[in-house]
Amino acid sequence: MSELIGQTIGNCRIDALLGKGGMGRVYRAHHIKLDRPEAVKVLLDAVAQDSSFQARFRLEARVVAALSHPNIVEIYEFDEYNGRFYLRMELLPDGSLRTLLERRANEGRTTLPIDFALDLVRQAADALAYAHERGIIHRDIKPDNLLLLRRRTDSGSSVYTLKVSDFGLARLAEGSGLTSAGITVGTPAYMSPEQCQGIDLDARSDIYALGVVLYEVMTGYRPFSARTISEAVRKHVQEQPLPPRQSRAELPAEVEAVILRCLAKRPEERFASAAELSAALRGLIGAGAVPQQPTPPEVALVPQVRVHDAQGRALRVARLTPAGLTAGRLAGNDLLLDDQAVGRNHLRIDWSGRRARVTDLGSRGGTRLAGQPLTPHTPQVWPIEQTLQVGPFTLGLELADPAADRVAVTFASGQEALTLTPGTPAFVQVKLANQGPNAALTVTVDGIPAHWVQLPNYPLELASGAQITLALTIEIPATPEGAAGDYPIVVRARGRDDGAELGAARARWSVARCAGGHIEIVPEQGQGREQADYTVRLTNDGNATARYTLSAADPNQALSVRLDRAEVELVPGQTAEIALAVQVGRRLLGASRRHQVTVRAVAGDETCEATAQFIQTALVGSWITPAG
Ligand code: ADP
Ligand code: MG
Repeated sequence: MSELIGQTIGNCRIDALLGKGGMGRVYRAHHIKLDRPEAVKVLLDAVAQDSSFQARFRLEARVVAALSHPNIVEIYEFDEYNGRFYLRMELLPDGSLRTLLERRANEGRTTLPIDFALDLVRQAADALAYAHERGIIHRDIKPDNLLLLRRRTDSGSSVYTLKVSDFGLARLAEGSGLTSAGITVGTPAYMSPEQCQGIDLDARSDIYALGVVLYEVMTGYRPFSARTISEAVRKHVQEQPLPPRQSRAELPAEVEAVILRCLAKRPEERFASAAELSAALRGLIGAGAVPQQPTPPEVALVPQVRVHDAQGRALRVARLTPAGLTAGRLAGNDLLLDDQAVGRNHLRIDWSGRRARVTDLGSRGGTRLAGQPLTPHTPQVWPIEQTLQVGPFTLGLELADPAADRVAVTFASGQEALTLTPGTPAFVQVKLANQGPNAALTVTVDGIPAHWVQLPNYPLELASGAQITLALTIEIPATPEGAAGDYPIVVRARGRDDGAELGAARARWSVARCAGGHIEIVPEQGQGREQADYTVRLTNDGNATARYTLSAADPNQALSVRLDRAEVELVPGQTAEIALAVQVGRRLLGASRRHQVTVRAVAGDETCEATAQFIQTALVGSWITPAG
């Protein structure tokens, strides 16, 4: 797709790229005749050129465009322009639930306030209820498709309206051969069991996906990590999600129950309709143990000024309080900007409680705000999204959560969801970025035994604005101690002197199963005229509970062999003793015969076995010959 920015498509001037998705790109645009901002989604050529797509497009577009609900992104028009299919829609300038979650994660918070999250998901449920009544299933509910509109109230707090986008688009792509063209339909982590199996689905599939979203906003984790369809199928169809309250203990049991009901494997065990789910969510708002206003996370944010150098590196950060800040080349300024191009006392920044004002103090090099020179000694409002240029430095104004982390802790991409194999060391990279003043740090990994983790042993001193990437080595012992399963992990950066937590990052690592059954038969050799008794000791040395199916046989089929149990289930480290009896028809005369009996235990694709001897003596006789 060639670059469209600057071009005009059907009366819309394309201004900027907002994001890319599976089916195309979304741009911020300006409708020239209507003189208003809009969003324009231009479908990928691969999508638009599919002939069956075009037929469905015309049919479905009309149905989808007719949806009109306060919680559904309004579609203005589906059309084609020079062979490009596009749709014009309402512009939602405040990002999506995904970007809200990411923003909070960057501030070290992985969940949303309970009532706030309940209310957002309730709005999505209302949108679904409306569309479902009209026979439209969304099929791709995920935080990226839940767009947000923020409104500031007179009291200064914000209220969010959530609007569901992309109704019907997944349906358009489905069945048109597009999936083989690399177009993704649905998103594995949010797909219902029936959707990932490709079987018939109904409105309750959307309820499942919304349940995944609710789980994620409440716990900071998705119930299942799935990158491929086959992984999604396995997990959504077979695995039970970890109960949300195991990740977030303060979550009311009723909220957990709603989440788990949405996530029921069988559609008939979920809420029967999105309207029913909406009612349940409504009933929970304000019912939590700690009564909360549905206040969005921004309410308590405080302003701070961040200094970047000419290379874009963050140098330092200072809180902006009503006392104001000064910046300049001389020591003693709150923000020391050490460069000859900066005046000794270059500028001052004031904070009224609502807005920032910046005053150039008559410096030689001057100060530019959003590219425009400031008039010396004249305070000017500094809007939050604009930057100040002072010599080689760029100053940004931002709102920060006062309780948020001073040290941002982040995992290298993908390492929040690692699979660890016992016995094989894994290397994990954790980045620490100090957004506060200079700090001496220690790092801890909570959630797994300390001796599984090797931390760097050098002292960690991080200057303000500095960052460092630590390499941690994780080794899970290949013994029952390294139990298979999911481990919620928190990596914390603490002040070395006072132990105060300065930042944390969460991950969920799963320890892979490793098999390790073994069998011992006691005695190794039994003797008798017609029978002998043994004890079979089966031990699970693996790291996961295993159910073994036992069998015993004599390869020459001369013996009759009996085990007193055919199945045992063993937790890691456990041993079971099973009686084994061997019998054979009695012989009057001749040499002793040597027989063998093999005991085998099978659990999944693991097999272990052991063999014992049975020496059959005759009533009369004294030497041994081989059996058979
Ligand atoms: P996806 O939903 O898979 O992320 P899309 O192509 O639907 O892909 O959208 C790409 C991105 O564009 C979205 O994540 C969102 O941030 C942004 N976006 C989509 N629609 C709008 C809109 N109406 N207003 C503002 N931003 C939008
Ligand atoms: Mg989308």
